[in-house]
Amino acid sequence: VYRSRSAYKLLEIDDKYRVLRQARTIVDLGAAPGGWSEAAARRTRQYMGRRNQPVIEDDESLDSTLRYDRSTSRIAIVAVDLLPIASIPGVHTIQGDFLSPQTQAQVTSVLDGRPVDVVLSDMCENMSGNRDRDSESSLQLCLAAFSFAKTHFEQTNRLRDPRRGVLIMKYFAHPDLDEFHKGIKPMFRRLEVFKPKSSRSDSSEVYLVCIGWKGGA
Ligand code: SAM
Repeated sequence: VYRSRSAYKLLEIDDKYRVLRQARTIVDLGAAPGGWSEAAARRTRQYMGRRNQPVIEDDESLDSTLRYDRSTSRIAIVAVDLLPIASIPGVHTIQGDFLSPQTQAQVTSVLDGRPVDVVLSDMCENMSGNRDRDSESSLQLCLAAFSFAKTHFEQTNRLRDPRRGVLIMKYFAHPDLDEFHKGIKPMFRRLEVFKPKSSRSDSSEVYLVCIGWKGGA
């Protein structure tokens, strides 16, 4: 049981694309109340357990920084939201607006040089009902998630397998977002639009699943 039904959307995405299998460091944007972080923490633990590798849970080092130690295979999850997130074992939470450079700098500082494997964004504002305004805000959130992911994947590429680098973003179908979608497609090995069964069918929300950062632009 998870603290939000949204968790099942991430599990569906992972069932289909196995995006969490290789993940050591995950950044979860728009994470409150924390269902995706919980699901990611459990899944990565299961994957690691199957490989008999050490797994952290209540690692105290997560409280301050996530010092990257190449000799271990520890999993770190950083969760960000405007709203507070009740604590989750193994997850470092940050309360702030991800569109603000200060919040992004805080995330980068917590990561402390650790290469990022997966960026998740379930960020969305409350729908105003005005489709143009809603798509504009969805686009802004996607652009922020993308540019953060790009910066960090470029660093990851130098340290790890370049086929890593997964970005999953919620967005709302709109022509402006199609442009965005086309623009980032060449930068990943695979990019698909996924509508989880657990997502309400009357909602225009879908997820862009971008796998394998190639770089460019
Ligand atoms: N994935 C979450 C879970 O499983 O519990 C549910 C996320 S909910 C659908 C969307 C979240 O995006 C809200 O909690 C909202 O506060 C957050 N959000 C919207 N705009 C944001 C922003 N600019 N910065 C950070 N979080 C934001």
